[in-house]
Amino acid sequence: MQRPLPDQFVPGDKMQKRTIAKGISLRGIGLHTGEEVQIRIMPEPSGRGISFYRVDYPEKVWIPGNLKEVKSTSYATTIGSNGTRISTVEHLMSALYGLGVDSALVEVKGPEIPIMDGSALEFGEAIQEAGLRSIGKERRYLKILKELTVEDGQSSITVRPFEGFRVHYTIEFQHPLINRQELELDIDEESFLRLISPARTFGFLNEVYSLRKAGLAKGGSLENAVVLDHKRVLNPEGLRFSDEFVRHKILDFVGDISLLSLPVKGFFMVKRSGHTLNHRFLKELIAKRDHWEVCG
Ligand code: ZN
Repeated sequence: MQRPLPDQFVPGDKMQKRTIAKGISLRGIGLHTGEEVQIRIMPEPSGRGISFYRVDYPEKVWIPGNLKEVKSTSYATTIGSNGTRISTVEHLMSALYGLGVDSALVEVKGPEIPIMDGSALEFGEAIQEAGLRSIGKERRYLKILKELTVEDGQSSITVRPFEGFRVHYTIEFQHPLINRQELELDIDEESFLRLISPARTFGFLNEVYSLRKAGLAKGGSLENAVVLDHKRVLNPEGLRFSDEFVRHKILDFVGDISLLSLPVKGFFMVKRSGHTLNHRFLKELIAKRDHWEVCG
């Protein structure tokens, strides 16, 4: 899965806030409902960040894609306002952030973002094909000034000051194909698209049974997740990378970081985390006003 950025990718001026150069339409299955969902990603030139519209209601409901609107982090990230929810936003948010899109409006005809192939590749390729354009406003960053660690049992996240966006991620699963996987990466448009966006979400067969029993993951299949039984991958095509699992965890982490609504300068060391600890960490970071600054 080594895909170079095509010649036509227009990244725009990185010193300025960027939106997509033209609209994108995508459709796919919702992971939890199993129903087809349609989305449209539109340019947003006023620079108010990534936000979502539920357009299947008579009155459109606008939901900003930021930390304040997160309503649930079990299995997927759900955002909402005034009782309206949009679920499974994390892979799309990750692709927008990873490819440097500061502002865009996502119209959703349904309760969740389609799962596509379980990765962010189709979102990333669509954004890449659309290209980016500057919106004439200075790009601001959230810059880490002091180290911070948040822990929960054997899981932890530490961030240190760093002039870039670097993630070191470690996962540990008692499974012969996973065990311990570690990856450190400087994340930019190219590394995100090639090394992170193709990594699919994964689950274990026994979990799939209990999710189905609970009426969840109705749209889940080998078409949109890597599924493991106790010793092997059930997908006939196998893995896209031998460490696809840790790469997907980085994809999810980037999606959660994007809820800060600003590109971040910092080095994140993440161990055995998931959406719930990621969100707790982000809330603690934002509350510690002397640990960061917003700068150009
Ligand atoms: Zn995920």
